[in-house]
Amino acid sequence: MAASKGNETVLELSGIQKSFGSLHVLKNMDLKVNKGDFIAIVGKSGCGKSTLLRMIAGLESPTAGGLYMNGKPVKGNSLAKIMFQDGRLLPWKTVEQNVGLGLKKGSHDKIASLLKRVGLMERAKDWPGVLSGGQRQRVALARALVHEPELLLLDEPLGALDALTRIEMHQLIEELWKEKQFTAILVTHDVEEAVALANRVIVIEEGRIALHQSINLPYPRQREHPIFIKSVSRI
Ligand code: ADP
Ligand code: MG
Repeated sequence: MAASKGNETVLELSGIQKSFGSLHVLKNMDLKVNKGDFIAIVGKSGCGKSTLLRMIAGLESPTAGGLYMNGKPVKGNSLAKIMFQDGRLLPWKTVEQNVGLGLKKGSHDKIASLLKRVGLMERAKDWPGVLSGGQRQRVALARALVHEPELLLLDEPLGALDALTRIEMHQLIEELWKEKQFTAILVTHDVEEAVALANRVIVIEEGRIALHQSINLPYPRQREHPIFIKSVSRI
């Protein structure tokens, strides 16, 4: 069935519950994510955000309920790619080798074009250890996107970066989202970040969706950010 963009369900969570022993982290979650959505999931530390993303990535199973991608149950080989706060680059591999992990031989052009797109072409042969935190997250983003994932999962990817670098990264993520037309789920405790990037914001409280809000502001949003305006006006 050919569905138009915006109505096609990429991911469906139905009655998701997740417990670790007697700890009931997620109590009942229903959510439909449409193709092209940029969803932000906001909640306090420990509310189950990473657990939820791991389940969507097929790295963990729910205690009850179902997760479906394109109508099929999510398994270990999920079509989603996840990007973590600490980037999880392999320190013994160069930047381009990190981006090429899991790709076939002969993917050099693909790797090069993404490295160029995230502004790190000149750093291709460097070790991750010599890069700044922001550059490492650019590599992590390139490594996730090189697989052309249907769904990009972002687990507090900018949480360890300074405010200005975060705003630069917001711009890059927004541009790539528009260019490559993937669907994204961002987990963050930063409400401003959620509003800067997402078209729907979901707040998790006590294991449930406490608020589900559409954001109808036009892009780009982060250039209106007071910190950004302040820093630019000083230049
Ligand atoms: P968040 O990402 O929102 O900060 P997490 O999803 O990491 O929260 O964790 C939610 C809760 O589940 C926390 O209390 C955490 O300690 C617990 N938890 C997460 N993974 C495990 C696990 N594998 N075993 C036991 N408890 C876990
Ligand atoms: Mg987490």
